[in-house]
Amino acid sequence: MEDIYERSIQGDITREDAIKLVNSNPFELFDVADQLRKDIVGEEVTFVVNRNIDITDECMIRCGFCSFRDSIGYHMTTEEILSSVKEAVDVNATEICIFGGVTPEMTVEYYCNLLATIKSNYDIEIHGLSPVEVFHAARLSGVSTIDALSYFKEAGLDTLTGASAEILVDSVRAKICPNKVSTADWVRIIKEAHGVGIPTTSTIMYGTVETWEDRIDHLLILRDIQRETHGFTELVPMTFLNQNNVLGAELSPSSGMDDLKIHAIARIILGKELPNIQASWIKLGTKLAQIALCCGANDLGGTMMEDKISIAAGASYGEHLTREEMRRIIKEIDRVPVERNTLYERV
Ligand code: SF4
Repeated sequence: MEDIYERSIQGDITREDAIKLVNSNPFELFDVADQLRKDIVGEEVTFVVNRNIDITDECMIRCGFCSFRDSIGYHMTTEEILSSVKEAVDVNATEICIFGGVTPEMTVEYYCNLLATIKSNYDIEIHGLSPVEVFHAARLSGVSTIDALSYFKEAGLDTLTGASAEILVDSVRAKICPNKVSTADWVRIIKEAHGVGIPTTSTIMYGTVETWEDRIDHLLILRDIQRETHGFTELVPMTFLNQNNVLGAELSPSSGMDDLKIHAIARIILGKELPNIQASWIKLGTKLAQIALCCGANDLGGTMMEDKISIAAGASYGEHLTREEMRRIIKEIDRVPVERNTLYERV
């Protein structure tokens, strides 16, 4: 494992190394990932005070793993969205995350109006949309995706989410989200966003039909993009939740061991190049998130306030943690809590 540590620091982990590692003793894997975390980012665990706003559960994409689409049947008005933003501002949140389905009304103009209205009312970072929204809005408005991104930036989009990546292997996408952007389109739109000055997160949604090889190929694609653009702020591993969706009828949730292994192998593959790896408490629960923070992760994500998407899929760990609760969870594992903004700057 000493050799793996050195190769990770040098950015030299190969696909074969990674496959061997996920099939080796997991506790050795966790040890090396934790040592890398210590040496790369130290003892601090970051978190962001934010509010998630899921603007509609209507969606024309129809992913097989989605439990959110049509789960309630709503489309927030601009006034309702503004009132949610105000709730975030009232607790000194630094970020709102705009998520939701994709509908034929969601053109470039629709998003630009929404972004500009939020920005003209509140001084808060807007983290939102993802390549799938960019792709469809651009298509509906008859503009290129790079132009759509420039308009969004001008209207107030600070950072784009790396959602809709799921697993960046087209044979897997054909089974779990056949109507979503292809791997090539996801990669292109992310690079375009970085190119026009919009940083993004990166994500991996694991635990459906993919293999460990597919997960590793996905992480290697993210590493290649980061080498080229340096535009990713973090990686957010998201475990598949199997309640109330088509795929869930056939699949069990991933094991706790696999949850930990994905954080560890991500740390080893991404090394210094993408130093922030999130343990998502809303998906894992706070106790498993604490362990993931000891297996390579260094960020506890956001306070959220709401997450209709995870709740619809069976997440049962709540939707809101306060600043104080985030700090307590981090201190319980003898680490140092640090509040950050979307760009990982200290607040
Ligand atoms: S995951 Fe997102 S894009 Fe897919 S159906 Fe659900 S809301 Fe639509």
